[in-house]
Amino acid sequence: MKSLLLSAVIGSSLLATAIAASTSAAPIAKSNPLRVGMVAATAPATGFLGAVEVTITNTSNKTARVPKWQLPNASGESELFRITRDGQPVEYVGKMVKRGVPKAKDFAILRPGQTIRTVVDLSIDYAISQPGQYSVTMAKPLQWASLSDGSSLKTPRGDFMLLQSAPLNLWLNASDLNNAALSTTGGAARGGSTVPGNPTLPPLGRDTSANPNGAGDPGPLRDRSGFGVNATYLNCSADRQALARTAIKEARTYTEVAKGYLNAGTVGTRYTWWFGTFLTARYNSAKQNFVNIDAAMDLNAGQVSINCLCDPGFEDSYAYVYPNDPYKIYVCNAFWAAPMLGTDSKAGTLIHEMSHFTIVADTDDWVYGQTGAHNLALSNPNQTSGNPSASVVGNADNHEYFGENTPNRN
Ligand SMILES: [Zn+2]
Repeated sequence: MKSLLLSAVIGSSLLATAIAASTSAAPIAKSNPLRVGMVAATAPATGFLGAVEVTITNTSNKTARVPKWQLPNASGESELFRITRDGQPVEYVGKMVKRGVPKAKDFAILRPGQTIRTVVDLSIDYAISQPGQYSVTMAKPLQWASLSDGSSLKTPRGDFMLLQSAPLNLWLNASDLNNAALSTTGGAARGGSTVPGNPTLPPLGRDTSANPNGAGDPGPLRDRSGFGVNATYLNCSADRQALARTAIKEARTYTEVAKGYLNAGTVGTRYTWWFGTFLTARYNSAKQNFVNIDAAMDLNAGQVSINCLCDPGFEDSYAYVYPNDPYKIYVCNAFWAAPMLGTDSKAGTLIHEMSHFTIVADTDDWVYGQTGAHNLALSNPNQTSGNPSASVVGNADNHEYFGENTPNRN
């Protein structure tokens, strides 16, 4: 009986793999009712300057509810596109936002047959500043999306369906770029982000010159000395500054422990739960990510900055960063409402955000939440169709939850 059951389980997992292979080859999963179209949006006198027109069509006879941040938005707000220039990845430089579970107001409604049309200037959030052959693909998991009959948009094996376009190939001319530069200020720098292509980044590495009260030294004077945490606080009240300082201290402890676990080569349920079955290359990626996250968290000459002023429209989120602007972390209302430690805590949120910086671990927000992150580890720890975002070592929340380790696993 036992062996029969086992072989049945193996058989079904093989079948699931086969289904996955066939669906990932197609741009859109067979039963996904949301179709994505994309064309270059060109000005009459010019060629492609970085803007595309995206259409999302609900092809079903049921109303669809989709979190707004998974849909193209004229002002960006999340990493929806994968872009290459001459085959090389083009960096996303827009906001990376740690979202909570969406509320009613966070959903867009698509009636049966309805098409939503949006022009997106990709040069706002992506480092599109050089001429070349561009390839643009939209790909975003439909997490929390549903149809009016209550069905969620998942593949047969339980992954979120993707809101995915076919690749769009575009040529960006040097002459068009020059004309655009003359007529507009343009550029991808936003919200204090650095100039794409040539960012001036502070060095990454452990600062050994300061921090006499390092993590693991619970001396009685540490409250008065700020736990040895020397960060920069912007627009924070005294109370919030104190909370943020404690959160950094606790995040340092989390990342130190996580780094130690991986440096020791431990493969326990804590690892497999968040990073999937053991595979040397993936383990090494997770380990390197935590070496980098821990080093960044330990920077102690004011490099890490906590900005308590959240952009309007993002107040409900936990926090956000611009990945090419280390180590500036903007914290929002859900951060202040979160516990200091444990799942989706203040300390864990800082791990999540720190992992986003390109020079730290370069993670994305492919899926959110413990269920989404764990399912990624179960079903798809490596990649989806060559997309590094869609892997456990490319997803920020997998790092946060591994660091928080709540509930405790070994
Ligand atoms: Zn994030």
